Amino acid sequence: MQVLDYAQDVHSVQETTQTFAGITEQLIKRINDQQSLNVFLSMNPNVIQEAQNIDQHNHEGMSLKGMTIAVKDNISTTGMPMTCGSKMLEHFRPMYDATVIERLKKNGAIILGKVNMDEFAMGSSGETSYFGPTDHPQFPGYVPGGSSSGSAVSVAAGLSHASLGSDTGGSVRQPAAFCGIYGFKPSYGRISRYGLTAFASSLDQIGIFSGDVATMALVFDAISGHDSHDSTTDPRPTAQSSELLKEPFDLQTLTLAILPEQDLMGLDNDVRRVYEELVKKLTALGVKFIHQAIPGSKAWIPTYYILATAEASSNLARFDGVRYGWRDSSSNDMTMASRSSGFGMEVKRRIMLGTYVLSSGYYEAYYVKAQKARRAIVQGYSSIFSKADALLLPTTAGLPFKRGEIKNPLEMYLSDYFTVSANIAGIPAISFPAGNSSEGLPIGMQLQTALMNDEVLLAITQAISSVH
Ligand code: GLN
Repeated sequence: MQVLDYAQDVHSVQETTQTFAGITEQLIKRINDQQSLNVFLSMNPNVIQEAQNIDQHNHEGMSLKGMTIAVKDNISTTGMPMTCGSKMLEHFRPMYDATVIERLKKNGAIILGKVNMDEFAMGSSGETSYFGPTDHPQFPGYVPGGSSSGSAVSVAAGLSHASLGSDTGGSVRQPAAFCGIYGFKPSYGRISRYGLTAFASSLDQIGIFSGDVATMALVFDAISGHDSHDSTTDPRPTAQSSELLKEPFDLQTLTLAILPEQDLMGLDNDVRRVYEELVKKLTALGVKFIHQAIPGSKAWIPTYYILATAEASSNLARFDGVRYGWRDSSSNDMTMASRSSGFGMEVKRRIMLGTYVLSSGYYEAYYVKAQKARRAIVQGYSSIFSKADALLLPTTAGLPFKRGEIKNPLEMYLSDYFTVSANIAGIPAISFPAGNSSEGLPIGMQLQTALMNDEVLLAITQAISSVH
């Protein structure tokens, strides 16, 4: 299984008799051969026609011409169901394209289909989907990470050039790390959420998976920018990161912050080795490092799980058996019956937690306190980025684990330690492949930077990847 190379494929279409329709046909065949990975939940029925159309017309100026994309099944795409990995929406068909889908199509990308995910994007292992778990592309029986499990595996197994996921607390970066590819969560507001099924609206962000930084930049530039359908989008137009990547980046001008030892205590030995080797290598190349504690790091996980569940309990109230999807009329209380049989265990657990932290007796103690902690975390990051260009930290403390191994939900929540703070602060963060464990399991490292500094983050990532 090999990650696809978009630049190489464009080159072969230009220089040989290869066509985008031909490449797409090969991928459809590969997707069919790899059914056991459980990646695609539905395929675009018009995909070959759309690829032929790209081949036949001279689509001048289209930056993603012929690029094949897999889309997480919580992003609205016409012509295919949108299940969110849930029985609740098993037969739901959306009526409009999300802004990101519209922009992908406008730029000549080919949407291959919709891919598996943890139910309503709640999970860290790809195991909570109603449609069954997604398998790891290189280590059968291991989890590929989650919640954007299908999006990560699609790229890692060479089934698409790139893919879209959503990242509320790490769901793009963590599966990217587990699968040995790049996963980027841009700043809150850089990519429109119009058409993304809301989990926790103040934390949700659409993110991108790819096998290299140049492809990542092309997709980011195409889909980012202000959208009148989403009032939380930043006013600036589309990003120009591909331009920036063309300029050489001097690592000797780079200052990176790293976390103090007490924050790295729980690291797996292999993760620690890869992390330390990277720091050593970059130091030798002239990168300056400063040790920097983030005030409030102890509050990352509790703050995230209070805010995320509170917002989820409100966002998921719309699934009532009346307006969308699954309806269960087996009892007099149709809404209760529909929610009881339509949602899986993890989703119900989140709704109950969220309802609890918002209830009148506990609101001040939990929700309001979490909002205050959020402010402290944002300030902690500001002080770091006044001294350093970016923060380097592992994406996960542990390695990809065997399916079924983590049974305790709390243990699963704690595994999000290094990813949730970027969503709490809204800052951009990327996971890049950095090495392997002694058994060969992929290990990812993460870079985070100041709000709206996304283009520079991609440039730093490319510079580091090219020497690593
Ligand atoms: N693993 C985290 C959770 O379960 C993050 C999910 C996400 O980013 N969508 O909430």
